[in-house]
Amino acid sequence: MPINFNKAEFVLSAASPEQFIRDGRKQIAFAGRSNVGKSSVINRLLNRKNLAHVGASPGKTTQINYFLIDEKLYLVDLPGYGYAKVSKSERDRWGKLMENYFQSSGLIDLGVLIVDARHKPTADDVTMCDFFRTDGCPMLVVANKLDKLKRSELEHNLALIRETLDMDETEILVPFSAEKGDGKEQLLGHIKAFCE
Ligand code: GDP
Repeated sequence: MPINFNKAEFVLSAASPEQFIRDGRKQIAFAGRSNVGKSSVINRLLNRKNLAHVGASPGKTTQINYFLIDEKLYLVDLPGYGYAKVSKSERDRWGKLMENYFQSSGLIDLGVLIVDARHKPTADDVTMCDFFRTDGCPMLVVANKLDKLKRSELEHNLALIRETLDMDETEILVPFSAEKGDGKEQLLGHIKAFCE
């Protein structure tokens, strides 16, 4: 069943479990710390300028956003984490929402974790990776902002990301630039292989 990723629409924002979508369609959940470029990666994949909101104020988005792709599957935009200035209550709300989402069994068919290609993944990235692993769903890791990296740094940085997230050779790491488009076809190919 070919899926047209150019056909995407925003469906709803969920702030509590009653709003989570459970209609049998597959769900691909995107996670990443605030400002890593998650919205930009989503927009790049869907060929849209601002479907997911780039530059949305960090930490103010304790909501799960659902985008329906080609009426066949959901791209689920999980709220960003790790923004230092977030209040404790906001952070608690984030934690509760994630717990609820991950505990609602069988919601996630594929996890996509977005990290910064320039840096060692943070402790929060490792925690998010563990959320996906505990859920038991397959997971892809995207190393975004590739364009900000020198070519000579690439191999070392990718190895550091694999090591920090404890990825084995079978797990997929895709170097990506939401800005330039690098990695788009590779990532779409992997996503389609999981979903079609
Ligand atoms: P989010 O908070 O994770 O959704 O991040 P955004 O998509 O809002 O992006 C945060 C900032 O990083 C914005 O200024 C983007 O333009 C910038 N950005 C996102 N992806 C890339 C990329 O691949 N390369 C570069 N150079 N900048 C990027």
